[in-house]
Amino acid sequence: MEYFTCLMDIAVHRERIVPIYSRVSPVVSHLIYADDLLVLMRPSMRGMRELAVVMEEFGQLSGLRLNRDKSKVYFNSSCTLKEERALELGVEKGDLPVKYLGVPLSVNYAKDRECQSLVDFAQRRVEGWQAAGLSFGGRIELVRSVISAIALFWLQSIMVPLATIRKIEGICAKFIWHGGIHAISWEQLCRPRKEGGVGLRSLVSVREAAGIKLAWRFLQGGSLWSAWMSSRYLRGRNFWVCEIDNNFSVSFKHILRNRPVLWKAIRRKMREGGETDLWLDPWIAGQSLLEILGPQTDGVAYRGLTCRHIIRGGVWRPEEYRFTAQLGGEIRQVQITPAVLSDVWVWAPPGFTEGAGEFRFSSCYDLVRFHFDKIEEYDFIWGKGLARKMQLSAYKLVLGRLLTRDRLLRFGVPVPDPKCVLCETENESIGHLFFQCHVAWSIWAEQSRRYLEGVGRERDFRKILKWIGDCSGQEQSWVRLARLRLAASVWHVWRERNRRIYEGLSTPLVGILHNIESDVLVMSP
Ligand SMILES: [Zn+2]
Repeated sequence: MEYFTCLMDIAVHRERIVPIYSRVSPVVSHLIYADDLLVLMRPSMRGMRELAVVMEEFGQLSGLRLNRDKSKVYFNSSCTLKEERALELGVEKGDLPVKYLGVPLSVNYAKDRECQSLVDFAQRRVEGWQAAGLSFGGRIELVRSVISAIALFWLQSIMVPLATIRKIEGICAKFIWHGGIHAISWEQLCRPRKEGGVGLRSLVSVREAAGIKLAWRFLQGGSLWSAWMSSRYLRGRNFWVCEIDNNFSVSFKHILRNRPVLWKAIRRKMREGGETDLWLDPWIAGQSLLEILGPQTDGVAYRGLTCRHIIRGGVWRPEEYRFTAQLGGEIRQVQITPAVLSDVWVWAPPGFTEGAGEFRFSSCYDLVRFHFDKIEEYDFIWGKGLARKMQLSAYKLVLGRLLTRDRLLRFGVPVPDPKCVLCETENESIGHLFFQCHVAWSIWAEQSRRYLEGVGRERDFRKILKWIGDCSGQEQSWVRLARLRLAASVWHVWRERNRRIYEGLSTPLVGILHNIESDVLVMSP
């Protein structure tokens, strides 16, 4: 492809092909990615003809030929005689926005209808699974895979409209709940496990994190894209204080709007200080001098200077400026490596030590998402050793979201008989099943009496959890076993209840106890 670049450079030099450029940004006549080629030029008849000649010459020498069926030419709206111009190149005219690898590329925000193929993708994926008779846990795992596929590609390529995101999240939620009652909200499912969710990612937050990633990539520099954006829009101004201008592209405005979050997540690694703005860049423990001293001070004296101005012979010399002793001390704490040239930005979001300066999408996501209180009971559910089905039934129980008959009635679902199918005397509710019901209670109490050397007086699931936690005199292995037995009892009570209601089958108490015993044996280390 280097040969192609040479041919293009010659054609541009001879002014036969005129690239699209402005006075300030670098001239870009074409971009090559893998075996894809994007040419950017003014669409004169002569230029189109010349490009056809370049392609032909390149084809003859390299054997790589333009696939005319897979290529398209796109014109801006003010261009006339589009068909005729396309004909000169022998390639069909395409409609904007350009789609690359299925993603619409546009200088404007992508519209909801342009992202319909993404919604269709999510719909097709879940439709393919709907018939498979998956469990709740299996459906969650599949939704996780849809989300990560979308997040990896689409959300990191373009600003997908919120309306599209809501549609996809709706498709996923509907699939998880089999089109029935959404017993747990989508937002709740998208919390990390320790905060009361199942650890799915919210696409809204992934979208935000992708925006931060884009801003980070710009700040890092080193690519044609960042050089082009920088020379076109920043024009020598400092990134952190540059005001948003109406003439900026939507993506550059988006980058600038993400600065406050990015500021919190990065640190300046000082080498010899020549590329760090003394006044505006955050280089003193994540703060800039402007922030520390305030705009009303004699900051004018430092404007336009880099940190190198207060380094002599490889050491800080803050005393040459009128900084307070305390600030001088803080400046001396900033590490410098004078032998190396470039100062760099490092990714260092608060609370994350992993990865040592490398960008991590997971920490970026964590930075933008909502945070909720961690609750001890969630540790009980998601800790090691429990089978997934038991984790999920305990999870719903802790949240109070198991669909017992009283709750079904509240949702307006017709229930022929509100009575508990285990004891057939009292009405069914979560509190009754776990474990006021004498049948359910005998299952848990028997477990506790036989294997845990005693039984607490509590007949409420959350209080039993507390009782287990309070048995601090017991060894870790006892607590672990108690946890397994309790979760297994919950699952088997719930399963027995469902079998009686939906399948008309029932298992005698001794059978249920036997099943619990086998499950506990499998899960025990
Ligand atoms: Zn009962």
